[in-house]
Amino acid sequence: MELRLEADLHTHTMVSDHAYSTLKENCASAAEAGLKGLAVTDHSPGTPDGAHILHFINLSVLPRRICGVSVLQGVEANITDRTGALDMEERHLKRLEWIVASMHNRCMKDKSFEDCTSAYNAVAENPYVDVIGHCTTNDFPFDCEPVLKKFNEYGKIIEINESSLVYKKGAVENSIEILRLCKKYEIPIVIDSDSHFCDLIGKTPNALRLIADTDFPQWLILNADWERVREYVLKKRPWIAEL
Ligand SMILES: [Zn+2]
Ligand SMILES: [Zn+2]
Repeated sequence: MELRLEADLHTHTMVSDHAYSTLKENCASAAEAGLKGLAVTDHSPGTPDGAHILHFINLSVLPRRICGVSVLQGVEANITDRTGALDMEERHLKRLEWIVASMHNRCMKDKSFEDCTSAYNAVAENPYVDVIGHCTTNDFPFDCEPVLKKFNEYGKIIEINESSLVYKKGAVENSIEILRLCKKYEIPIVIDSDSHFCDLIGKTPNALRLIADTDFPQWLILNADWERVREYVLKKRPWIAEL
């Protein structure tokens, strides 16, 4: 059976200047693509044009469903150095509903193999982080097998990122290796668009091709089933009234 995703859990809006759609446009596009859920994960304040902290503090004014799509109020936080520090304080992280932690060139100070390995090992232990975003580029090499095992030990979800597959060197080869290891150790993944424009929401053709090519098991893809995403979020964050 053809794999269809039910949620896109890494998406951006024009609160960053380098993204071009509103949240409502993203949700309308998600509904059109047949998605049940969407996580709005704008760039944290450490990004040069990242959202202001007030953007994240005020997310709770949003309705739970927009255009019929359930919206998780999240962030893509920057991993900033070898200690695995994030550019958002704990008091803000703990109020959000979906947290992707990623390395970006402009925000990550330490970039060697040892630095990235050390950073990821620390991020694994951060209780607020749900997903390790696009750990598939050549920019941030790390000791893949032991780090993935540690992510799994601490319940982190690994992202296969469509945007990286299109734009980043090494992402195809690295994603194939990560899928091989996630299959071997039964580590859950999510497949996300990392959309910066509404038409791209829920569109992950390159990632889906790799899933087919690697014969990756569907039961390990969390966002192939919105119910499983919902259960995961509600279990981790029992203060959420409805989803
Ligand atoms: Zn971006
Ligand atoms: Zn990113």
